[in-house]
Amino acid sequence: MSDIIQLLPDSVANQIAAGEVIQRPASVVKELVENALDAGASEITVHVKDAGKTLIQITDNGCGMSPTDARMAFERHATSKIKSANDLFCIRTMGFRGEALASIAAIADVEIKTKKTEDEVGTYIHIIGSDVKKQEATACNNGTNFMVKNLFFNVPARRKFLKGNTTELKHIIWEIQRIAIPNPDIKISLFHNNSAIYELPKTNYRKRIVDLFGKGANQSLVQVNEETSLVNIFGFVGQPKYARKTFGEQFFFVNGRYFRHPYFHKAIMKAYEQLLPPETFPSYFLFFEIEAANIDINVHPTKTEIKFENDRDIWQIIHAAVRESLGKHNVVPSIDFNQSGSIDIPTPKKSKEDISFPEIQINHTYNPFETEKNSYAGNAYTKSPKEKANLENWEDLYSGAQLKIKPEPEYFHDKSDSLFAESLTQFSGKKTLQLKQKYILTPVKSGLMVIDQKRAHERILFEKFMEVMKSDSVASQKLLFPQTLELNPADAALLKNIIPELLSLGFDIREFGKDTFIISGTPGVLDVASPELIVEKLLEEYKNSPVNAQSKAKEQIAISLSKASSLDYGIDLKQEEVDTLIDGLFACATPNFSPDGKKVLTIISTQDIEKSFNK
Ligand code: ADP
Ligand code: MG
Repeated sequence: MSDIIQLLPDSVANQIAAGEVIQRPASVVKELVENALDAGASEITVHVKDAGKTLIQITDNGCGMSPTDARMAFERHATSKIKSANDLFCIRTMGFRGEALASIAAIADVEIKTKKTEDEVGTYIHIIGSDVKKQEATACNNGTNFMVKNLFFNVPARRKFLKGNTTELKHIIWEIQRIAIPNPDIKISLFHNNSAIYELPKTNYRKRIVDLFGKGANQSLVQVNEETSLVNIFGFVGQPKYARKTFGEQFFFVNGRYFRHPYFHKAIMKAYEQLLPPETFPSYFLFFEIEAANIDINVHPTKTEIKFENDRDIWQIIHAAVRESLGKHNVVPSIDFNQSGSIDIPTPKKSKEDISFPEIQINHTYNPFETEKNSYAGNAYTKSPKEKANLENWEDLYSGAQLKIKPEPEYFHDKSDSLFAESLTQFSGKKTLQLKQKYILTPVKSGLMVIDQKRAHERILFEKFMEVMKSDSVASQKLLFPQTLELNPADAALLKNIIPELLSLGFDIREFGKDTFIISGTPGVLDVASPELIVEKLLEEYKNSPVNAQSKAKEQIAISLSKASSLDYGIDLKQEEVDTLIDGLFACATPNFSPDGKKVLTIISTQDIEKSFNK
């Protein structure tokens, strides 16, 4: 009988291994930029086409490679960074397994031009699917230039798995952020389809964060600085009032390397306890300096988890350091009586010793329905602060308002296809009760119907938006004073992508210089007073939304906008408003589900209620 065990050919083994290291275009960007850093580059440029699916090009001015090294670099376990096992314990470089280049070359078309400063000529190598097609001397700049084309061309299953360009680009942007933040002394640029997303000059830590995340970061960030024998922690945390709904500006670095740490994250969240508006996350950028022997960098190349010895002690140090910074940097308003006429301007306290914790103020009684037209399209985010203040006594204002007329019976017709059709048609529309400023309860024939107020409103808005997007004539409300919106480069790139959809919704929005936009009109169906806030919220929702194919972009944006502009939880509703909401909901084509597929309502059956009394 013949033997059955065979060694896999190198090319196949490489392909399999590549799957571990290279999952998507962003992984290539990460590996190549890290190599450039390790090569001592002071300038790194990244060009991607079609979110890296077509081309990833990375140019650095680092040390370059000799012809032999350039060829060797593509062999598995070829690394210049580790010579003995002992080196493993004091690693400070980014890569050390010598796998990245071999992996990339196994699943793409790779060209490299590289030259050491001291050499006269450089080296050109062309490899396709681990197959060296060409190697020759070439004239080129000092440093290294990688071109990676047609990623996963020979692994169709992988290629098919790639997400839409928006998502893949988002991952690339994240990788660049993770490398750019801890390396402010290195000039880094990122271009997508030839348009610049980042052009980050050499600078300091704070300015680098501002360059990445927008000018808002500058006001928000307070410094953290804590030196202990175990670990030094420095960096910045965002003031609570700038906390955002998007989870994405939270960064830990150890010895210049990005890592994730849910346990340390909790230390920070604990420091912010009671300070954050609900469902928001603070930004943080914290750099740890620690002896390399005290951490275990999981040698899996793509993993960003790192194990710390003494992690409990470090938890305490982080918590205390963040808490102290938040207290110290709290800007407490004070009145200077010597300066008449300027009492409105808050001035920071001089003494650093005055530590007091900032408080958040959430107006739970603010009512989103209370707009001039009493339309449910308005909400807390669509009113200017001044208007909000005017609405403080909205209950008084409301007492004279007219009751809304009940819906015509045909609202309830033709819902035969819906899951709750029967129950919906039984809705009496008479008795409702709001529970926990979140649910609306109402008796129906078969039991008790419970409606989620936010999701119901999302559904109503979504159907309106879809209608608007489909119609030829778009109703837009001109703004008396066009608003400018300044975004961070990543958000600006995202917004640019979806401007056509926003126009079709009735927004009048256009680019106005780098990362700045002008909004001069808003959708007719929305009653918007702060359009820039709505657009920012919309972007946050859109960023966090699950990915859909390009064809569904319109719908995705309508979903995001309905989430961004819908009524929130934590708001007391008056009877009339509840009625308006319920009427609107049952006038929808699909009242049972929110636009992103979540249950809007449920019915607790009378039988179940009865059963619970028979136990
Ligand atoms: P590792 O980074 O883990 O050593 P890689 O496969 O990423 O493994 O790279 C292999 C080797 O190729 C590196 O150790 C380095 O010597 C060399 N190399 C890779 N990229 C560059 C670059 N941009 N400039 C100079 N040398 C490089
Ligand atoms: Mg490497």
